Amino acid sequence: MFEYLWMNDIPDISVATKDDFLKLQREIALGGWERALRLSERLAALEANEELIADRKYVPTFGDPIFDFAEAIGTNYSAIRRKYHSQQNKEPSAGTAGRTFSSSRLHDIFDGINLIYDIGPEYGTKFAPYQSALADARKLGRPSERTKNLKADTAAKLLKEACRWIYEYGPPTAALLEDIASESRRCRSLTRKYFGRRLIAYFLASEARAHANRVLPFPIEALDFGRVDRRADFSLRTAVLCTMSAAFVCIAAMNARRRDEIIHPKFGLRRGDLQVVSEELRIYKSLFYIEKSYQERRPFYVNSLTADAIKLLERLESCFASIDADWPPNNLQEGNEGFDGRPLFSYRRFSLMKGVGVDRKWYDFDNYQHSSDAAMFLRIALGDKHDFKAPAHQFRRMYALLFYYQYENGDLVSLSRQLGHLDLTTTLVYVTDSSSRADYEGIRAVSEFRQLVGRTDLRKQLEIVGYEKLAEEIDAILAGEARFGGYVKFVNRARLLIARSAFYSSNEQLGTALFELIRRRGHFPKPMRHGQCMAGGAPNLRGARCYSENTGTLMREKAGMATCYKCIFHLSSRQYLENTREDLAELDRTAVSYGPETIKGAAVAREATELRRIITLMDARLAREGW
Ligand code: SF4
Repeated sequence: MFEYLWMNDIPDISVATKDDFLKLQREIALGGWERALRLSERLAALEANEELIADRKYVPTFGDPIFDFAEAIGTNYSAIRRKYHSQQNKEPSAGTAGRTFSSSRLHDIFDGINLIYDIGPEYGTKFAPYQSALADARKLGRPSERTKNLKADTAAKLLKEACRWIYEYGPPTAALLEDIASESRRCRSLTRKYFGRRLIAYFLASEARAHANRVLPFPIEALDFGRVDRRADFSLRTAVLCTMSAAFVCIAAMNARRRDEIIHPKFGLRRGDLQVVSEELRIYKSLFYIEKSYQERRPFYVNSLTADAIKLLERLESCFASIDADWPPNNLQEGNEGFDGRPLFSYRRFSLMKGVGVDRKWYDFDNYQHSSDAAMFLRIALGDKHDFKAPAHQFRRMYALLFYYQYENGDLVSLSRQLGHLDLTTTLVYVTDSSSRADYEGIRAVSEFRQLVGRTDLRKQLEIVGYEKLAEEIDAILAGEARFGGYVKFVNRARLLIARSAFYSSNEQLGTALFELIRRRGHFPKPMRHGQCMAGGAPNLRGARCYSENTGTLMREKAGMATCYKCIFHLSSRQYLENTREDLAELDRTAVSYGPETIKGAAVAREATELRRIITLMDARLAREGW
């Protein structure tokens, strides 16, 4: 963003106007940062200057001479080098012209630019550049494509291979890694150069390697692979990555978890997340971070395959932890993770020159490049010519379809809990999406238990449950139970109104009449983490705090205690307040982890202060009312 402003003769952020940001928004929407920063023109100008190119090349120890394109044209755009090699001024195709990015990607970019407002007026802008970031992104971006379903035969092959790795190939791989890790401990007094040489000699003579080679589907010929030694598709690292891929597939498919909830360096699975309830009965729980709704770690029961996969990962992780202890990686976050808390999907490369690589590496299932991460596992599971390029999210969808259409007791509420949805309608999309039709019909056809349940019936079920909830809440307010929020006032006003217009012989009669009145107004409860939004489909939503005059709709993405607590449609209770307290604790932790001097840290700290103020107000109100 600063580069864009600088290119447009705006050297100081304080003089940038809303119009400047609108122009930037249009440029990004039409052609991304490449267009906004006029990178093609700048690259073309550079190409004409052969002298400059020759001057700025440097020759690395291995490989071809490298040229620093970013430095030469003076850009911070990190993908410039890849772009230079691949695109050569590619025009956008007719179908995508004007909508280069998906709306979610644009939303991320606009949100990122909005941070300039969070810094405060001293260093940033006095206005938020994009107040309706989400609405703008939806208008300017491509609609998000829905993830396709995993084909049943592909899923079966992947799971079958994954089980083989967990129970057959993974343990000898772990044994070999343990052997190598112990040797690395013995080498701790050596310099890196001698460490590397000795480790390779030890590896070649290792008994554990000979045993693994008798069991694994490929012989482990090298410690690692890299640019110099490509023959080593069959290396210890490949076997470790295959084991991680297998564990990932099992955990994703058996627990409906998102990719980042499993492998993210900060939010993914960590050592210590698996808890044994009863080893004898094979009952286990695991903590998973729920990314989009709760945004905290929550316990889930997991099956024994998941538990065995996590235990195997922990075994691998112990080896890398012991290597880290003697040869600390450059990117180890000291103090941020104890032994219990180390991420399970990280590893160290082995190096001919240095024994182990200098950085810790992060596993990524969605990395399809040759020789990396899940590539070998997929080749073994699906054959050399497979064209599998499915995002990890497909395992989650597969879980939802199997759960709902296969199991006798697969009800929507349980499924939504497992998926971590706060809203049943999101869960409904998973099981009734038209693109899933062939899959769920296939599943239903083999199920002897389930009745056919159509979309309409499900909607009806949801409606019935929702109205029961609405009636319950109205009764609770009339009975003076501990409820707060603008909706309490709304219900009490409506009660006075109808009590004045007719005579009701009992509270029950009054409650029923009130419920009918409110239902006719279109109100319907939508649970959120900090309370319930009762707006439903009310015709007049202007009084809502998240109402947008521009779109004439609610901007529920802004919902949060800070936005909703004064809203006429907000209804909350002590339990929801507890959730808010937990959110506050999490915000405090996040602010500390970012550090007060960072933009993000300061923004989170401000949010926490606001939330703390609201919680204090709520507590005072509850105390005043004697709840
Ligand atoms: S501000 Fe909150 S409670 Fe009010 S309508 Fe929006 S989401 Fe619902």
